[in-house]
Amino acid sequence: MKGEALHISEKARTAGNAPDWSRKALSTIIRLNNITGFLPLDISNTLKAIVNEVNNLFNLHTSCLYTADNGMLNLAAFRTPDGLPPDIHFNSSINACAALRDGLPFIACGSDNYRLICQNRKVSSDYLSHICIPLLTGNDVNGVFSVSLHGEGRMSRDEMDVLFSIANQASMTIQRYRLFETLKRERQEMEEAYKEISFLNEMLRQKINELKEARYRLLQSEKLVAIGELAAGLCHEINNPLSIILNRIECLRMEAGEVSLPESVLKDLDVIHLYASRTSSIVHDLLIFSRPHPVEFRPVRLEAIINEVIRLLEEDLKKNNCSVETVIHHNIPEIYGDHDRLEQVFRNLISNAIDAMPEGGRITIDAHISSEKSGSVEIAVKDEGTGIPDEIIHRIFDPFFTTKKLGKGTGLGLSICYGIIKNHGGDIAVKTSLDTGSIFTVYLPLRGVPVKEGSYAEGKDPRNR
Ligand code: ADP
Repeated sequence: MKGEALHISEKARTAGNAPDWSRKALSTIIRLNNITGFLPLDISNTLKAIVNEVNNLFNLHTSCLYTADNGMLNLAAFRTPDGLPPDIHFNSSINACAALRDGLPFIACGSDNYRLICQNRKVSSDYLSHICIPLLTGNDVNGVFSVSLHGEGRMSRDEMDVLFSIANQASMTIQRYRLFETLKRERQEMEEAYKEISFLNEMLRQKINELKEARYRLLQSEKLVAIGELAAGLCHEINNPLSIILNRIECLRMEAGEVSLPESVLKDLDVIHLYASRTSSIVHDLLIFSRPHPVEFRPVRLEAIINEVIRLLEEDLKKNNCSVETVIHHNIPEIYGDHDRLEQVFRNLISNAIDAMPEGGRITIDAHISSEKSGSVEIAVKDEGTGIPDEIIHRIFDPFFTTKKLGKGTGLGLSICYGIIKNHGGDIAVKTSLDTGSIFTVYLPLRGVPVKEGSYAEGKDPRNR
């Protein structure tokens, strides 16, 4: 302990009435206990309350509470006669530093002693007794509590005990606050780490799913290559005899009048013709799917293609009680495409729309310059059919996927559409509802006018290469 031990209570502080002061001290300690007992702490207000209570109890000249951070003191709360923060060069601050440095209380009283200690420094003439208490937890200094008494005032040992006990309380408060803050920070860090782990987990789960999907697709595509090769070979074998059968039926039909074939034979011929034609169209689809023909890109008019398809499907539409409404905007220019392939795209989409409306209904074809995909024309084929259930929507573009009954669907229509559209540098999207039907939207790029007409491989205008 530096300086002389303080004794004899100051009159003004205790007013010569020790029991009164003891009661006051007790109630101050209880009040402070209540204030510091709350969690979470508002540390700034709590330290201010401690300083005020101490100031009132001891009737002090100045009291300051510093918190210590990495060996530096920060003034956290103070009470001075003029309400201004104490000057940092003022002796109380310097003594506070000594208490921080030594981890020991600094006590000075009486003019000579104090003046001696503070020689060469500016000393206030208002007070000469000064106490500086390090706020300790174990070896850690959490801060410093520094008080100065009026004039030559001194403290009794009892009063010093009370002051030290309040300093202890302040020390615990600061430490508790710091522990609480550390806990809060660690909890926040743990929550962030947990979020990151969950995010990474989710990413991992997605990657595993993608891998599974890719593996499945790889297997499928290997199978498809094998099926494609087999189908291509078979189709060639079937195609020739099939053409001969269809030809012969045509000849028989033409000669029917001359050789007066009976009605029943003519009916049989019609049936044979129907099934042979259906087989021929399946073979045709399979050939396109297994060995895509090189595409011939020329300027084409979408309106002409769509009208041609509607004409070709006229009978089918009528038979199934379906009507078609076309809204083709006049500002659509010619686009570059393969006429026959695009015809096939719209034939497949309209045929599917017919199949989706067993009771009949309206098909709307709306073609306009796309506002969604710039530089494209979009053609929407809308039906009022059954819609596509969620469970199968991701499979409808897969080759050989069909929900139609045997002999009706091959499951190649949409996959062929997809291939042709991609070959044109376009895209296809579907929106569907089980209540209102489906909309298949085809996006095709508008490529401008070519320098000279010709056939461009793989859907690219030579100027864009
Ligand atoms: P297919 O017509 O031979 O079945 P697609 O590839 O054209 O082959 O179609 C695959 C499946 O997608 C159909 O079997 C059907 O389940 C579904 N589908 C396609 N278009 C529609 C549509 N407009 N409405 C409802 N379902 C459709």
